[in-house]
Amino acid sequence: MAIRRILIANRGEIALRILRACKELGIETVAAYSEADRDALHLRYANETVCIGPGPSAQSYLDIPRLISTAEIANVDAIHPGYGFLAENHHFAEVCQSCNIKFIGPDPKAISLVGDKSRAIALAKEAGVPTVPGSGGALKSEGDALEIAREIGYPVMIKAAAGGGGRGMRVAHNDISLVAGFHAARREAEAAFKDATLYLEKFLEDPRHVEVQILADGQGKVLHLGERDCSLQRRHQKMLEESPSPALDPETRRKMGEAAVAVARAADYSSAGTVEFLVDGSGAFYFIEMNARIQVEHPVTEATTGVDLIQWMIRIASGEPLDFRQEDVRPRGHAMEFRINAEDPDDDFRPSPGRIGLFIPPGGPGVRWDSHVYSGYVVPPHYDSLIGKLIIHRNDRREALETAKRALSEFLIEDIKTTVPFFLRLLDHADFLHGRVDTGFIERYFQ
Ligand code: ADP
Repeated sequence: MAIRRILIANRGEIALRILRACKELGIETVAAYSEADRDALHLRYANETVCIGPGPSAQSYLDIPRLISTAEIANVDAIHPGYGFLAENHHFAEVCQSCNIKFIGPDPKAISLVGDKSRAIALAKEAGVPTVPGSGGALKSEGDALEIAREIGYPVMIKAAAGGGGRGMRVAHNDISLVAGFHAARREAEAAFKDATLYLEKFLEDPRHVEVQILADGQGKVLHLGERDCSLQRRHQKMLEESPSPALDPETRRKMGEAAVAVARAADYSSAGTVEFLVDGSGAFYFIEMNARIQVEHPVTEATTGVDLIQWMIRIASGEPLDFRQEDVRPRGHAMEFRINAEDPDDDFRPSPGRIGLFIPPGGPGVRWDSHVYSGYVVPPHYDSLIGKLIIHRNDRREALETAKRALSEFLIEDIKTTVPFFLRLLDHADFLHGRVDTGFIERYFQ
């Protein structure tokens, strides 16, 4: 089925990114926006725009009936959900399917399977992929948690099966903190995800987070497109991603790519997806979860492979098979993505919404800037604080670091605080420059 008109059910930079892919494919766009986003940049370029409700996302970007009726009235044949909001909501994907509107992403069954992290871990194990020692499946009770923790040894981490965005996780170092953490995580998971299912795994000390990009066409071909090292995190939220990972040797890289394909195949996965691993000090890797959506950091992989991931999501959804093979994927050079957030790094990264004065982003060789903001734009307080992504691509890591420093110093952003000064400080840190980072790095040196 050829797709000729798409509803973009998202906002911010990803809405613009999807619109750009559509334009290049000759597909018409309908932009669904909330009242708080009436000045969004992509609305100026869309073929049609439809206001779907007030600022709070529960009444707009998360309102399924509203989005579906908008799609029907606007006469689209597909919806791109972007990331966040309804991107991994299998019910939404199902409703789209039953209304004969193509959901651009994996099918509802795969979304629901990998969205339950404890089921995804069981699936990975069955596929012969290493996982972090732990409960393997859902915890039945507090007693169950205590028994497994004693068996594998402290520290352990309790995690919500439906978790995401770094929420619903608790580290425990002994029986008492495990019992307290068990109940706290349950409450948090119930409130945030309406699902109190928990599982437990060994807490790895200062691991690296390395993930593999997957593309599957649903017609038998599942390819991996190299890894992204996302170890630079704050409160389990990524801040900077790079490829290749400074920590992988070619053999581990090959094995990790194959493991990612094995998980995607086991889940009967199609579209773009990401398989996430933790890597310990010895270089061993363990599957932690699979994300059934396009990710914020996808441009890193687009830079190194030259593959347009959003275009491929659309082409796969319209029934096209992947027209290249695994051996054609030859990542080149070094790419880094810096998440520029409207946050004050000198005040515990407190959100800094409001009107931007003068705004001038960097440019020049090796620089890609994906953003929906401009001079005079008002960053609304309702949503996440990402205002743009600076993506650098150069021949090697050293050159990428030099270009990053030059580009970050070119930003002119008046009247709001951003993470730019934080990244400039990071680029002076010897351990970061040598690629010696782990998931605890920012908390250790920058808090
Ligand atoms: P979410 O889905 O909320 O993003 P993940 O399972 O992907 O949660 O984990 C997010 C981050 O939390 C990881 O990148 C890592 O920094 C940390 N983390 C998760 N599991 C463990 C673990 N077993 N040991 C140590 N750190 C972990």
